[in-house]
Amino acid sequence: MRQEVRSFINMKYKDIKFSLKQSKRKTTSIFIERDGCVTVLAPETYSLTKIEGILEEKRSWIYRNLAEWEDLNRTKIEREFVSGEGFPYLGCNYRLKLVDEQQESLLLKSGCFLMRRDKSQYGADLFKDFYKKKGVERLRNRVVYFAPKLGVKYGAIRVLELQHRWASCTPVGDLNFHWKCMMAPLAVIDYIVVHELAHLRHPNHSPAFWNEVDKVLPNYSKHVSWLRHNGAGMDL
Ligand SMILES: [Zn+2]
Repeated sequence: MRQEVRSFINMKYKDIKFSLKQSKRKTTSIFIERDGCVTVLAPETYSLTKIEGILEEKRSWIYRNLAEWEDLNRTKIEREFVSGEGFPYLGCNYRLKLVDEQQESLLLKSGCFLMRRDKSQYGADLFKDFYKKKGVERLRNRVVYFAPKLGVKYGAIRVLELQHRWASCTPVGDLNFHWKCMMAPLAVIDYIVVHELAHLRHPNHSPAFWNEVDKVLPNYSKHVSWLRHNGAGMDL
């Protein structure tokens, strides 16, 4: 059975802009959506005054979370497949140039991404294919290099689109990497590889896990913070 919902958008309490959804729930919850909007879910019996009282109580939590959200998304860019747009590869930014005569749909040549103009409507797919193809090669090389240092055995290596993560592994040692990894600098890619290989020993983020990472990459925290600050900008 569907719950009956009343929703109100563009609400404002002091300087907090929010949207409100009221339903047959028993408690109130407040969260920051992926687009940075504040959403309040409240029981249908609550009056607006009561809801405003809750917002007042949660005020500092909301501010802290909004600031964190802005921090994470400051670097987020919407890329267009037009001449002059920049695309990262191995930590460097390369300009895109649309060209009319070229055999391949997309290639990286003399410091530029060259894309066939008649294929630019499929720009996102072309770039994903490019990162995946380059990724399989490079990530395999790095896995081969680091696995003996951690003393682990691995299975298949795949480069694909993952949900909200850079890499994942399975209990049998298969390794999956997001194609976005190829946008990051080489040292950061190495960290992502080592992090995932260390999970084959410790399937958690325990001190023992970080100790394993630290043995192979003593300066790994630099790469963790690089990903935290630049991760959002690594997208198409
Ligand atoms: Zn992890």
